[in-house]
Amino acid sequence: MRLISHFINGETVSEPGRLGDVYAPTIGQVQAQVELAEVSLLDRAVANAKQAQVAWAATNPQRRARVMFAFKGLIEDNMQELAELLASEHGKVVSDAKGDIQRGLEVVEFACGVPHLLKGDYTEGAGPGIDVYSIRQPLGVVAGITPFNFPAMIPLWMSSVALACGNAFILKPSERDPSVPVRLAQLLVEAGLPKGVLNVVHGDKVIVDAICDHPDIKAVSFVGSSDIANYVYQRAAAAGKRAQCMGGAKNHGIVLPDADLDQTVADILGAAYGSAGERCMALPVVVPVGAQTAETLRERLVEGIEKLKVGISTDEEAHYGPVVTGQHKARIEGYIDLAVEEGAELVVDGRDFSLQGYEEGYFLAPTLLDRVTPDMKSYQEEIFGPVLQIVRADTFEEAIGLASRHQYGNGVALFTRNGDAARQFAAQVEVGMVGINVPIPVPVAYHSFGGWKRSGFGDLDQYGTDGVRFYTRTKKVTQRWPSGGSVIDQSFVIPTMK
Ligand code: NAD
Repeated sequence: MRLISHFINGETVSEPGRLGDVYAPTIGQVQAQVELAEVSLLDRAVANAKQAQVAWAATNPQRRARVMFAFKGLIEDNMQELAELLASEHGKVVSDAKGDIQRGLEVVEFACGVPHLLKGDYTEGAGPGIDVYSIRQPLGVVAGITPFNFPAMIPLWMSSVALACGNAFILKPSERDPSVPVRLAQLLVEAGLPKGVLNVVHGDKVIVDAICDHPDIKAVSFVGSSDIANYVYQRAAAAGKRAQCMGGAKNHGIVLPDADLDQTVADILGAAYGSAGERCMALPVVVPVGAQTAETLRERLVEGIEKLKVGISTDEEAHYGPVVTGQHKARIEGYIDLAVEEGAELVVDGRDFSLQGYEEGYFLAPTLLDRVTPDMKSYQEEIFGPVLQIVRADTFEEAIGLASRHQYGNGVALFTRNGDAARQFAAQVEVGMVGINVPIPVPVAYHSFGGWKRSGFGDLDQYGTDGVRFYTRTKKVTQRWPSGGSVIDQSFVIPTMK
């Protein structure tokens, strides 16, 4: 059986010990095993990283950017291979796997501009003979802990910015689809990243805890489910680290009566069922405003669902593939059962779906539930599967209130032709990322990504300028070069600007 090992100091490192199963979701079988590190291996990786970081930080930013440029080229050259590998472990269709890589690649492109982003501020003549300047310096060794659902994009969000800023990086990828992160690390070394600056350590809670506690790791970036995000945030902060921890989501798509229905239905279907709903920016809740909108939308959604094709990852006609594991499939089915028990109307049932020739694969057909209400647990919690819930609202204010009061606040979308309503919505809604006629409002690489409430713990977002701030600290220098002949100046009071 294929063994997926760690990548430390530019080499594959294997150590006998605990192993985790990596599935092939299409056929429902274990396809590889991943090594799960113990703390001693993390210690080794951090020691290497700490040593390598000194020279990397001293490398001028333009040269560091050149490594990112070369890396970008290598990702593009290897796109097909990376996408197929990603799809084989995650289950998403290859075209969507390319999107996963591409969104990460865009952050690599952003990181190529790091010389500009690292420029400090300077004030000449802040006092007599006094200049003040601030500089951005890397933190040292930093770490990223990533989820299964974007095994290329999220490691690239974190590592590209951290590395370009002059840090060394320890990546702890999801143990469910760990191959692509290792492949990306190899490509970075091929692109010229000095060995030891990026290390991939596979593991589970043992390594996550050790990362949070390690005195030589200065910052932790986490993306995953909310309970773990909160736990990592608390534990890393208690150890004196910076932490940015992104959590789960339950994004609402609000549909006003004046929306362009053809486009809205297409958008909602893609955002609800794409990647089998395993996206933190999916739209698993749709809120039609008014009874007429609800009836028409429901009818159109059912028509659209009938045309969706669930298939294997390499099927170019499939809209989405299997979910990641059998355990996750059972969890999603459990939520559909729960919604029905809670009184939701099961309009389209995606359970008991079997794909011919792939009967053991973790496939689920699309599910549509109507008359879901805010008191239902199946509405309050994240399902993370191909399940769309309709929550009917009588007024626009009620719809905004639903999204604003939900425990998660990652993304939200409004479908309307009314600019005034859209402005009001963007100003008022208590959610971190807002789409106006945009179903998946993931900000572009030069803005930053982050949700509110239980979707994000910590105060700086991922990538963009927030990413640069997160992975650097500013030093403020006040310097005085008195010109000749000035008198000796002594004072026992705090210096002020007279
Ligand atoms: P997860 O929380 O199970 O795992 C994320 C990481 O935490 C993994 O590396 C895993 O090894 C580690 N982990 C798991 N259990 C742990 C424990 N008990 N203690 C310490 N570490 C632990 O998440 P997942 O299932 O891999 O990913 C899906 C979740 O991620 C969803 O909730 C989704 O919404 C969320 N997500 C959020 C964003 C965002 O930016 N807000 C983006 C993508 C995914």
